[in-house]
Formats: sequence, C-alpha cells, structure tokens
Amino acid sequence: MKICKFGGSSLANSCQIKKIIDIVSSDPMRKIVVVSAPGKRSDDDIKVTDLLIECAELALLNEDYDVVLNDIVDRFAEIEKGLGVTEAISEDIRADLVSRLLADKSHKGKFMDSMMAAGEDCNAKVIAAGMRVKGIDAVYVNPKDAGMILSDEFGNAQLLDESYEQLAKLKDIKEIVVFPGFFGYTKAGEIATFPRGGSDITGAILSAAVKADEYENFTDVDSVVVVDPRIVPEAIPVYEMTYREMRELSYTGFNVLHDEAIIPAVRASIPIHIRNTNSPNSKGTKILPERIAEHGKVAAISSADGFCTIYFSKYLMNREIGFGRKVLQILEDEALSFEHIPSGIDNMSIILREDDLDDSLASKVMSRIKNELGVDSIYLERGLSVIMIVGEGMRFTVGLSALASKAFADAGINVEMINQGSSEISIMYGVKSDDRIKAVKSLYKTFFGDK
Ligand code: ASP
Repeated sequence: MKICKFGGSSLANSCQIKKIIDIVSSDPMRKIVVVSAPGKRSDDDIKVTDLLIECAELALLNEDYDVVLNDIVDRFAEIEKGLGVTEAISEDIRADLVSRLLADKSHKGKFMDSMMAAGEDCNAKVIAAGMRVKGIDAVYVNPKDAGMILSDEFGNAQLLDESYEQLAKLKDIKEIVVFPGFFGYTKAGEIATFPRGGSDITGAILSAAVKADEYENFTDVDSVVVVDPRIVPEAIPVYEMTYREMRELSYTGFNVLHDEAIIPAVRASIPIHIRNTNSPNSKGTKILPERIAEHGKVAAISSADGFCTIYFSKYLMNREIGFGRKVLQILEDEALSFEHIPSGIDNMSIILREDDLDDSLASKVMSRIKNELGVDSIYLERGLSVIMIVGEGMRFTVGLSALASKAFADAGINVEMINQGSSEISIMYGVKSDDRIKAVKSLYKTFFGDK
C-alpha cells in the first residue's frame, strides 16, 4: 500500500487535480490520498490557506469579510466545475465556512485553526467527488472519524500516540481514501492544526499507521538536486538519500522535506518518495532508511547564512575541570541552543544561529562568561555561514577532506571552522558569509563537476 500526499501546487486548480486523479488511478497500490488546500495557480496568486487566514483575521476584527469569503468559495466552485462535479459541494462549503466564521472567537488559536483547516477539508471533499465522476471508488474520510487525535497546542499540534491504533483501520477501507492533511481534533473534539505545511506530517503519520510500503510525496520538482539550484542552476539530481543524509542537509536549509514533518515515517522506516505531479514518470528522489553508498561519494552539499561565533580564551583552560559544563550551563540558563563548540587547548568557540542571539542577549551571555569563568579575552563575530558536505560513503573514503580543502583553496576562501568526525557522514565548514556562494560553487565543481 502507498500513501500519496499532494501539495498545494498539485491541487491549485481542476487541471492539476485531473493529473493527480490519473496518478492515483494508475497504480492500485495508491490507496490513501492526503491532500493540501489549493495552492497558488500562478506566481501572483494567493494560497487558499492564506485567504482563510485573511478572512479569519477580518472576522476577529469584526470587519467585513464577504469579498474574501466569496473568493474562497469561488476557488472551490471553479475546481468543482472543472472536475464536472454536480453535487454542488461548493454551496455546502459556503455554509460550512459561514458557520466556522460565526463560531466563538474568545480563543483566537482555536478559531484560527478551525478556519485554516477548512482549506484541506473542503478540498478533500471536492477531490473525492471529482474522483467519483471519473468512476473511481473514492471516499472522503474526516480526521475525527479516522481517530486523528492531536494535542491542544493550536497551530502547533502534535499527534497523540494513542491515535495509531485507530488510524491503522484506514487500511481496511475498500474505497480509495481521500484524507485532508494539516489538521486533526483534540480530545475535546476541537479542530487543531499542525504547523504550516503540515499536510506532510499527516502523510507521514498515516504511512506509519498503516505500515505503508511507501510514502509518496508529490510536489512540483522532478528530483531533488545535489545543491541549491539558485547557486548552481545545472546541479545534477540525486535519486536516493538516507534519512540521516536528509537530516544533515536540512540542518543548513536544504529543503527536501521538513525533517520534523517526516518523523513518523522515519520511525516506522517507511521509504519516502518525492515525485513530480507534472511529470509522474520522472524518477523522483527516494529517502530511505539505508542505501548502498558508493565509495567516496558526496551525496549533496548544503549551505546557510546566519551563524555567529562567540570566541573566548583562557590560559590553562585545559586544566580546569568543569569549565565546559559551566559554559553549557550559561547557555541553558539563557535558553540558547548552540550548533557547535569547537575547542582548543586554551580557547573555545560557540557557534550559534544569529537569529537566536540579538545584541542584548549576546552582551549578557558574554559578560556572564567573562565574569563567571574569568576568561582572558572574548569577542563575538557575526556574518558566518555554514556549509555541509554530506554522504553515507564519506566515512570510508581517504582524501575526501583534502579534496574539499583544495576546493576552498582554489576559490581563495579562508575556512574559519571545520567540524569533522562528530557525524560520520558529513563535514561542516564555517566561512565568512560573503564567501558562501563562491565556496559552494567550487565544492560542486570538485565533487560533481565531471557528471
Ligand atoms: N495548507 C497548509 C499550508 O499552507 C498546509 C499544507 O499545505 O501542508 O500551510
């Protein structure tokens, strides 16, 4: 059994939805279809979820929301018409939205979640009807009936593990299940949503619940490519990567799938297949629990700006038992998550995300380190970028870091920091942000240039 999840761009209009109906009907393994809300039809269009947010905000301000409401209903009416659905679902959708809009607004989070979830919910109903028009035995299943029970953290809900037993029964439904992504219900029966983009989470949960053979995640790219195509437009595709590789890469902004979104599928060892709705015969990219790694091969390169370093030194630091613990205690007290702490005999650098460390917090942390640990010198350096080269095959390859060092040298770039060894499958480099693009291009040329 395969779970297929279709994102907003795959469902933006009836023309796109016809493609997904063909995709679903072309493989009898595709039994459960998770859908997002309709996305943008063109670059300057607005996603239905964003229209719903706008409508909800107007309602909260007691302002007129009719124009936006009509826009939303029109989007579904257009889809319904394009699919040849005659059940007049869009009229039910209007009534449903009006009743959500008139509901109690005293808890903003609950109200917003109920509105936001409507995009997925209505789309699933229309798509199931569209499939039936095509003669496919399809049924809309509501997450409450299926037992998708979430915590009551509105807008950021999490699945309660007890849901799995009930959700597993979805595999016994003989029709094709069309399941709205992004939301579930609290124990008290209220709608709660996952974070934005949360339909991926729904797909991962259902894959784990029914122990699917594969979780197909349909989007609008043929395959994942080995490096950000905005930096290297000709970047070659990567057809397979492991969960670990994906996680290492996503650390520095390699947006395959959000690593937290797929945790349920990862825990259940379900292979994830990223595919293109607009080109379903393309190979796509598989994310697997394990793969046979080619010797010496770097799988991909990722990079991100926005890091900084607090550097400090103290003579005879190496002899001072407990020094590291005290540093970590200060970070914990200030609720700071660090990325990396390279250390030498008498010095340490704490690498942090710049967004987490504004100037006032930086000076507080630095004065605590200075006063409580008696360091000789301390300074903060902003404008650091992190580059990761990642690959399962790297750990048994001689000379790989020499190649990477040569790539930096060829580009005339000074490496500020290297972290090799804490992960067997990656090497992390810190460079000045001005050098990031040049460095990534040079690394691409070194590791993939001959492909
Ligand atoms: N429609 C929701 C959003 O725009 C969830 C999703 O598409 O996955 O965030």
